[in-house]
Amino acid sequence: VARIRLFVEPDLAADAEFAVGERPAHYLATVMRATAGQSLLLFNGRDGEWQAELAAVGRREVRVRLLHRVRLQPAPHGPELLIAALKRDAMDLVARAATELGVGAIRPVFTARTNAARVGSDRLRVIAIEAAEQCGRLDVPRIEEPLPLDAVLDAWPQGRALVVGDESGRSPPAAAVLPNGRESAPPSLLIGPEGGFTDAELDGLRVRAFVTAVSLGPRILRAETAAIAALALIQAHCGDWRRSG
Ligand code: SAM
Repeated sequence: VARIRLFVEPDLAADAEFAVGERPAHYLATVMRATAGQSLLLFNGRDGEWQAELAAVGRREVRVRLLHRVRLQPAPHGPELLIAALKRDAMDLVARAATELGVGAIRPVFTARTNAARVGSDRLRVIAIEAAEQCGRLDVPRIEEPLPLDAVLDAWPQGRALVVGDESGRSPPAAAVLPNGRESAPPSLLIGPEGGFTDAELDGLRVRAFVTAVSLGPRILRAETAAIAALALIQAHCGDWRRSG
């Protein structure tokens, strides 16, 4: 049977026993029709990954008992993705794919031509949890509350680089200029909306010392394609794709 891996909230320690939340309980009891005694893997983003077993499967609650830790919790190391608020399906795809690609956080941003006035953050959080469970991550990327792009740039953390996808054809190839961030501090990535950045936005970005504008090739990519392609480049160049195995 495929190993069941679930994200749970409580602290994980040997012999701990607790009732899991509504989402995992429904998955175990109703979708998987799991039974007491079945083994599963649990993680919470803080305490590593634990071998556990189902202590009780009831209609109202499912209880798990922890046995032993099987993987240590790595230090957070994924790049941050700043993505212009896209239409729902595109945002769902970005949340899933960016989670699989190892982002540490996803920050939806509002730009002059943003397609959506709001972002379904709670829905994106569930998508990120399910993608993290499926791909074997030991944490779930933070889905930050959406902010106007300028507010994010004005509060930019010291020492962090920002790679911006610039489809105007005026920027150098990404692979040639990706800042050699150490894996512990890979550059963040900013991808614009379907309508692109305005010239004023691109000018405002280029004057910021921490910004590197890059080309992602001669074709105009959809925002979700650009986010996925650029994250792969960052992970391969200065992220955890450099590790073997
Ligand atoms: N200005 C584009 C057009 O002419 O249709 C629309 C923007 S594109 C659909 C969405 C975002 O993806 C862009 O703002 C940029 O961040 C990124 N992007 C798409 N193609 C790119 C490329 N070839 N190089 C760099 N970034 C790209």
